[in-house]
Amino acid sequence: MSQSFAPPDTELFRKLWETQEGCCALCGLAMPKDRFELTHATLWQKQRPTFDHIRPKAAGGSDRADNLQLAHAACNKRKGARV
Ligand SMILES: [Zn+2]
Repeated sequence: MSQSFAPPDTELFRKLWETQEGCCALCGLAMPKDRFELTHATLWQKQRPTFDHIRPKAAGGSDRADNLQLAHAACNKRKGARV
């Protein structure tokens, strides 16, 4: 199993990153742009930017850009667990 230590390098990611100015959509704090801003891989795993579905897929949300935002992995997970 390979681990990715960099944000997804896609057009959608860059677009959302610019729109949100690198801040988490859920807690509003800045997200690390790459893992080298953090000293520990475990921190990166929690704070790395991930795609969050504004309307959860379980509730019929789509994978389209207008239903996606960027959030810390930890915030995303917390939100998911709460639903
Ligand atoms: Zn966050």
